[in-house]
Amino acid sequence: MKKGKTFIISGPSGVGKGTIVKALMEARPDIFLSVSATTREPRKGERDGVHYHFIDAARFRALIEEDAFLEYAEYVGNFYGTPKKFVDDAMEEGRDVILEIDVQGATQVSAKRPDAITIFVVPPSWEALEQRLRDRGTDSEEKLQKRLVRAKVELQAAASYQYMVINDTVEEAVREVSAIMLAEHCRPGERMQLLSEA
Ligand code: 5GP
Repeated sequence: MKKGKTFIISGPSGVGKGTIVKALMEARPDIFLSVSATTREPRKGERDGVHYHFIDAARFRALIEEDAFLEYAEYVGNFYGTPKKFVDDAMEEGRDVILEIDVQGATQVSAKRPDAITIFVVPPSWEALEQRLRDRGTDSEEKLQKRLVRAKVELQAAASYQYMVINDTVEEAVREVSAIMLAEHCRPGERMQLLSEA
């Protein structure tokens, strides 16, 4: 049976990963999008259990103790983590899984699951990124500056990813991510196994 693959999508804050993933999920509802746990406050319009599982620091620590996370990391003063069980269940069902996580999380997942595919989303320009963060208007100037500093560090990690997608238009970015996902299922290892099972 076809087994699902894990696709890690990273990129600096404000690059539009969320928008790309949302559009991708509309086109491919069979994909499993992992909902992370976070200690950050919900933004306007964000719903618990949909965008994130919003939990407090004590609960987050308890989940670390229970080994419930595939990975977790601190990002600009808050914790974010990927619940392990949902990801594993979805893969067993043959569904592809998307993890929208930062560079630290990607490093942890790649170490544990070397077959995970890594995709880095970059902005068409630095100015475009700053503008998008400002347009979002959810962060204080101080937090925004911290996110920009972090973004510069993260961009340096892009070269260690397997794929790079430029988010110029959402349509094109989604097309590229879809193409990567399709191509990864055409690798001989998987195809040979499916043939031998047929
Ligand atoms: P935001 O606060 O903008 O929603 O997310 C901040 C950063 O945390 C983004 O780069 C996002 O991809 C990342 N992130 C979201 N969920 C997780 C997670 O479960 N683990 C890790 N390591 N990073 C995450």
